[in-house]
Amino acid sequence: MKYIKPLFIFIFCCCCTFAFSQTNDSIYLLKPDRVFDGEQMHEGWQVLVKGNKIVATGSNISNTSSAKIIELKSCTLLPGLIEGHSHLFLHPYNETSWDDQVLKESDAERVARAVVHAKATLFAGFTTVRDLGTEGAGYDDVGLKQAIEKGIIPGPRMLCATKAIVVTGSYGPKLKGEIDIIKGAAEADGEDALIKEVRNQIGKGADVVKLYADYRWGVNNEAEPTFTEEELKKAVEVANSSGRIVAVHATTAEGMRRAINAGVTTIEHGDNGTFELFEMMKQKGIAYCATLAATDAIAQYKGWRKGIDEEPESVKTKRKSFADALKAGVIICMGGDVGVFPHGDNAREMEMMVEYGMKPIDVLRSATSVNADVFKINQTVGRIQPGLLADILIVNGDPSANIHDVRNTKLVMKDGIIYVKN
Ligand SMILES: [Zn+2]
Repeated sequence: MKYIKPLFIFIFCCCCTFAFSQTNDSIYLLKPDRVFDGEQMHEGWQVLVKGNKIVATGSNISNTSSAKIIELKSCTLLPGLIEGHSHLFLHPYNETSWDDQVLKESDAERVARAVVHAKATLFAGFTTVRDLGTEGAGYDDVGLKQAIEKGIIPGPRMLCATKAIVVTGSYGPKLKGEIDIIKGAAEADGEDALIKEVRNQIGKGADVVKLYADYRWGVNNEAEPTFTEEELKKAVEVANSSGRIVAVHATTAEGMRRAINAGVTTIEHGDNGTFELFEMMKQKGIAYCATLAATDAIAQYKGWRKGIDEEPESVKTKRKSFADALKAGVIICMGGDVGVFPHGDNAREMEMMVEYGMKPIDVLRSATSVNADVFKINQTVGRIQPGLLADILIVNGDPSANIHDVRNTKLVMKDGIIYVKN
């Protein structure tokens, strides 16, 4: 039964999408109990939406006679949530291993899955995603984004990283000997090749440049640094000069140190980050995207029975580095590495951020205004503010008191169009 309702809504919303794609002039007055504007909670606020924009907020809005009034008793209105680290072209590794997804699933299957994932993400209230690499699916993220923008399929706004960039020999999948196979990312070494690959991906539609500062290619398959600091610096210079941000995968202290010195925008994972490294990040304004939910999910796929067994080292390490990041006061993004765990279950990261010591209101800030500021999209989304796009999530309850309430979806609006109304 649970599946039938969203399906029905999707059919209904398809009509909306087409009906309003040219002239969406609907006016809505949304009346929840409270409004989280991306920074603060306001009791008794209302929000007026006209077309695809938020036009007024506050407790006393005038000129609302032509508006459709939507009463939302016991509800909280928030900006549409922003997923900071997704892979719409992956699905959980306990269903199919990462190697098999990259090597054996057809392009058509991967795109078909991504279409389903995009819908699940939007319907869960995540109206924007920063999608950090297609993992062997080439530039299909850019095509998916275009299909969403044209209203062909429902999905979130996308910031695409396309293929992402690794050093030769570091990334999978790997077969023995001299067999050359498709890789999960583009290989580029040395400043010249790196400059060319960054520019190539930008030309193909990358909104964000993703690099791997380390990977599991040590002599015992442990994570070790990949790019030199000079290579990272050059890639950052080239990406930044085109107005793009740089996301860097780093789990080792040395990989993080090189990424910090290179002046990247965000560091992803940071498992072995120390208090000193997080302090350096804070000083340089580099944000941290912890991906707690991915570490937790992978540990469970490896046999850890959460809540029964003792926490494995990987989880203990993650708890410690996240606590150090909080103590250092580094900017914290919300991004779970969703795709490792199911799309639509993005809230799992927000719940774990609270479980690991962050205040619920700060987690809500991370998932809205902070992500929008860090990803340089705050001129359009991330806050409930007149002039910004009408990307809105309304939930039953108050997620600043109980973070699990972000799952109690009552209404999802993107660009002024209602996709979910429960
Ligand atoms: Zn990832």
